Amino acid sequence: MNTNDKIHLVDIPMGGNGGLLWNRLHDERESVCEAIVKSSQSMSGADLEANRPSSRSTKHWRQALLQERLRKLDNALDRLMSGSYGHCSKCGQWIGDALLEFDAAEAICLGCSELGH
Ligand SMILES: [Zn+2]
Repeated sequence: MNTNDKIHLVDIPMGGNGGLLWNRLHDERESVCEAIVKSSQSMSGADLEANRPSSRSTKHWRQALLQERLRKLDNALDRLMSGSYGHCSKCGQWIGDALLEFDAAEAICLGCSELGH
């Protein structure tokens, strides 16, 4: 009767790897926030550039991309806390270490993201 051996560390989101992940996601979230603030400041500040529609749309596009990234990071932090981190938000399957290593905020497995495009 040695059931103690079967405790899964995965069940403790903030311990071990979970803490590293938390830091990684949190650090990136902070730099994305900074980038959003910076790019919105330069958007209202530089009137020379504001007169050029092409550069303005590039900035809007960049802002949208940053906002999207921020949402994804927030979502990953939420899931890390609730313990569902690493599982596909569509089918519930394990996303996979390789994909999570590539993008720690990934919320959808390869199969579902291919279906979605
Ligand atoms: Zn999936």
